[in-house]
Amino acid sequence: MLAADLIRAQDIDVLGLFFETPFFTAQRAVKSALSMDLPLMVVDITKRHLEIVRHPKNGYGGNMNPCIDCHALMFRIAGEMLKQERADFIITGEVLGQRPMSQNKQSLRKVASESGYGDLLLRPLSAKLLPLTMPEEKGWVNRKLLMDLQGRTRKPQMEMAGQLNFHDYPSPAGGCLLTEKVFARRLKDLFSQGKDTEIREIELLKLGRHFRLAPFEKIVVGRNKQENEAILALSKEKDHILTSANGPGPVVLALGDFTDSSMAIAASITASYSDVGEGNTTTVKIKRGEVERLLMSTAMSKGEFVCYML
Ligand code: SF4
Repeated sequence: MLAADLIRAQDIDVLGLFFETPFFTAQRAVKSALSMDLPLMVVDITKRHLEIVRHPKNGYGGNMNPCIDCHALMFRIAGEMLKQERADFIITGEVLGQRPMSQNKQSLRKVASESGYGDLLLRPLSAKLLPLTMPEEKGWVNRKLLMDLQGRTRKPQMEMAGQLNFHDYPSPAGGCLLTEKVFARRLKDLFSQGKDTEIREIELLKLGRHFRLAPFEKIVVGRNKQENEAILALSKEKDHILTSANGPGPVVLALGDFTDSSMAIAASITASYSDVGEGNTTTVKIKRGEVERLLMSTAMSKGEFVCYML
């Protein structure tokens, strides 16, 4: 928002781009863009992004976040869009040194060069501390009016935001879902299956409790009504859906071709999260497509299946 404002203050039109994947969605950006009358285009980059999440050339940050490759990909795609949008150059809100790994001088240089559009990539908030770019050199942008922010503090940015009446902006901390420990662990497990990843499998990682019962057998257990409904909505004919036949309980989605013994564990976990109470027996309904069957199952203690938890 600040970078866009700095450039617009020089009478240059700015088009906001938000690159969307299952790991980060556009809601907040849409709200922010609306609040400052910035035209915004949301571009789905899932396919290309997933490829770099699987095989990041420059490795991961703290979890499954390939930030350097991710930035480079976004700038490459922005570069590829320049012609169609009749735009001349790219700006970003990056600040030198704001993130120790992905926004130090070396990383900024690397990202610019790997994007293939380094000459056209301007970081208005730190421009005065960075090498001259083509938009400055050619006089499209007045470098003197750009900034020299650096470091981890966001205080100057927050002050600028206050002066510009930008009160509703995304939290400065954190990153996308790939930076979250539990999500990253589940994603790593999903990739370890070695098959093509379905988008719904990534969406499922955001919901419920996950248990890997065997290499190709996994269950997702809803934690509340909303999650139960979301899990059902993501289910397919080929999946098994387990529910308690005798009263309230979770929706459990079983992914894979289950053996009888794995299905017995899945049913027992279903019973454990139902209202039946530990050690008691209940009936679990197992549905696959149009076929239904019932299985008597005893609720295990949570300690008995924690070893399966992702
Ligand atoms: S935090 Fe997520 S969205 Fe941001 S650069 Fe890293 S991988 Fe990309």
